[in-house]
Amino acid sequence: MNNKLQFDYYIGIDIGGTRTRVARFSDNFKLEKKSVIETPLYEKNPKELLEEISNKIQDLKKSNLKFAIGISAPGPCDTKMGIVKNPPNLPGWGEVRVSEFFKDKFDTHVCLENDANAAALAEYKIGSGKGYKNIVYFTLSTGIGGGIIINGKIYRGFEDSAGEFGHQIVLLNGPKCRCGSKGCLEAVSSGYAISRDALSKTLVRKSGILYEIYKKNGTIKAQDVFLASSQGDDISWKILNKAITYMGIGISNVITVFSPECVVLGGGLTNQEYIIDEIRNFVTTHVKMAPINKIKIVKSSLGDGSSLYGSILNIIELQ
Ligand SMILES: [Zn+2]
Repeated sequence: MNNKLQFDYYIGIDIGGTRTRVARFSDNFKLEKKSVIETPLYEKNPKELLEEISNKIQDLKKSNLKFAIGISAPGPCDTKMGIVKNPPNLPGWGEVRVSEFFKDKFDTHVCLENDANAAALAEYKIGSGKGYKNIVYFTLSTGIGGGIIINGKIYRGFEDSAGEFGHQIVLLNGPKCRCGSKGCLEAVSSGYAISRDALSKTLVRKSGILYEIYKKNGTIKAQDVFLASSQGDDISWKILNKAITYMGIGISNVITVFSPECVVLGGGLTNQEYIIDEIRNFVTTHVKMAPINKIKIVKSSLGDGSSLYGSILNIIELQ
């Protein structure tokens, strides 16, 4: 890769709702050292989290060598100005000028990218989307996000707002979404939606595997629903079947709009391998205008590291 500014190494920062990772990468993008911060410890105190990230960077820094900092953070972000703008995944943040903070601290090159775009870029450059010109990336997790790569570049859309695949409307007057709309893909198909539906049905039924889990843990997670379904729980199976069907609808719509050569699926829900098979079957049956039999539907090969890798690969993109 062409390294125009000739940095000796890179610092990648991946700010997530649960964990924030800070890592040092070599000049040829090999991960050398990584630190993890529990983000919720700094809830509503973004400045304190940024200070803690700075401490980690001090530990990772090499003396007298030139480095750049790449950041990935939950959207929405103003990537040009380096501002994280009131992300739903980081409650209480408001607008935070993260790039300026690290520029002032370390007097170096800093760039910011929305985490789903960063993940899409990493999958395109070094992951499952490598070798294709046009890919779309879905993260299927507690929420549903996405990124679009067209001719090898992130497509950001107007004011960095493209690729919000989780907020396409798939069900008129459906459940309320955290974006403020109703019936978004995220509101019917995400890990959050699966656990919400499981909880409401279990509290009515008051019996079965899920009710036992609820009595023990006080909550039901999406992974509990997968477990109960695999043990023959019919309500769990119905909840998952509905969620996966809507995932198929959302992904079919995106394929029809972009006709990418490759669709990369990441996020915790894809740890259930059969979800990818189900989605592949759904889109193969329903997409008619794109050459669906030639379009690859693949699992992310970078897993939850994709946005961290993307944060530093983006430094080169933006030079
Ligand atoms: Zn929404």
